[in-house]
Amino acid sequence: MRLISRPVLCNYYVTYRCNASCAFCDIWERPSPYITLDNVRQNLIHLKKLGVKVIDFTGGEPLLHRQMPEMLRLAKEAGFITTLTTNALLYPKYAEQLRGQIDMLHFSLDSPDKEAHDKSRGVACFDFVMRSIQIAKELGEKPDILFTVFAENIAQIERVYREITLPNGLVLMLNPVFEYNTVATNGNLSPEDLKILRKWGKKKYVYLNDAFVQLRLDGGNHIDKPVCKAGSATVVISPENKLILPCYHLGLEEFQIENNLYELYHSAPVQRLVALEGKHAKCEGCAINCYMQPSFAVNVNKYFWLALPSTMRYNYWKGTWRKLKW
Ligand code: SF4
Ligand code: SF4
Repeated sequence: MRLISRPVLCNYYVTYRCNASCAFCDIWERPSPYITLDNVRQNLIHLKKLGVKVIDFTGGEPLLHRQMPEMLRLAKEAGFITTLTTNALLYPKYAEQLRGQIDMLHFSLDSPDKEAHDKSRGVACFDFVMRSIQIAKELGEKPDILFTVFAENIAQIERVYREITLPNGLVLMLNPVFEYNTVATNGNLSPEDLKILRKWGKKKYVYLNDAFVQLRLDGGNHIDKPVCKAGSATVVISPENKLILPCYHLGLEEFQIENNLYELYHSAPVQRLVALEGKHAKCEGCAINCYMQPSFAVNVNKYFWLALPSTMRYNYWKGTWRKLKW
């Protein structure tokens, strides 16, 4: 049963550029411009009209965009919930300006060891994450640690939890790795790994969306009965100011936005693609977290109920549950 029929999330790609080169990601290889402040200003009005509640400013590395603080401010002033994930290389530089503008601020960290983390990210960012945690805390921010879980680093969760997140009073978000296109993630999670993850998900100050685990056990999205609602639950905007359908990863079609996002989203060609969400051949087995999370939030099925407790716990810990009213 569909609970919310409008899009709830905007994945706003501010640039595909990145100052890291993670082995499990290919986005940094793409040439890319940066979004403009004028386009953001216009699109936010249309996103509001569409009913979107959350703006995820993403990339690439979103903090490479020098006007990021201003864009976040615009989104906050318009009443959106804002979220941003960073590798932390530029956080110390912009922390003061970003203060109070990001509701869900995530620092990526995949290992308690400097050498291992820097190797997986292709650049020395471990020390920046550690420094960013201290700076954010001093500024009264409540960042989370986003840990992407592979078969090869699952045993490292314990130390990140005990040595980094617990002592700093942070939430540890476990993000099971997903495969897409031809990117080799080198660490598909086995049923045994998923069992371990589920145990971690029960610990205090650990966030794990149990629906992500179940989806993997069920073999991901199935095109004959799709759980994916990427097209109808999210709006994806590219750095070229194009509307991408049905999701960034599949990116079947792009439509130039000319200060007409609301009308464009409701146009026949876009809605034709929305109707095919999760039904393309490449959608079989998909478990891309960024689109499954909003998909689970808008449709009442077993994944909805599995996702609900972790969402409630997270917002209780963070004191943000009031913002959840959709
Ligand atoms: S930091 Fe993020 S965007 Fe950059 S290469 Fe790594 S995963 Fe990709
Ligand atoms: S199933 Fe995956 S690839 Fe297909 S539209 Fe949804 S998120 Fe994109």
